[in-house]
Amino acid sequence: MSHYVLILAVVAVFLLILRLKARSKLSRRREPAVYSRRIDGAQVNAFLHPQISENCLLDHGLQFGKGFRRKEGPPLPHDGSCRCRIQPFSFTSTEVFNGALRSHAPLESSIGGLDQRDGQRLLDALKQIIGQPPPAQADDYVARVMAFLNNLDAPVKAAVEAFLRERHAYLRGAGGAQASRIAGSAAKPPAGPASDESEVVKS
Ligand SMILES: [Zn+2]
Repeated sequence: MSHYVLILAVVAVFLLILRLKARSKLSRRREPAVYSRRIDGAQVNAFLHPQISENCLLDHGLQFGKGFRRKEGPPLPHDGSCRCRIQPFSFTSTEVFNGALRSHAPLESSIGGLDQRDGQRLLDALKQIIGQPPPAQADDYVARVMAFLNNLDAPVKAAVEAFLRERHAYLRGAGGAQASRIAGSAAKPPAGPASDESEVVKS
């Protein structure tokens, strides 16, 4: 009798193991469904213009929302010259995997003919020199920024230089006090566009 019980117990355990194995295989097969969840959030989009403040430069591309580590965006407007917008988005994780977050919502600017890539390079260059007081001469300021921007097409180059002269005048004039005040608190790291999934909270 005790042998029968033992055999029954062994068979029961064996069946249980088979069942668990089958279930784990099934859940592995279901995994793609998990990956196709949506990623909802929003992005701060700056508008590049000669009076743009450093906070706007730093926050451009900042992504936040339910699926992100950062749940809330910065309070807008940043200041009187701020033309930033909050652009909501909703992507599938496949779209995110294919670079949707990186290419989302192009940077707009007041410079005619400036394409997305050059606009981003100009913004990055302006971020690079945050904290440096503007030199007295506009030419020096233009040269300082243009050092980051090689191979611009001639018409675009002329437009960017005009933009920088206007920005220099702004920084040396009314914007100067504001710029140097911000320079003191410019220690926060640049909030560039999130490299795809890195900012997305994995669940
Ligand atoms: Zn702003």
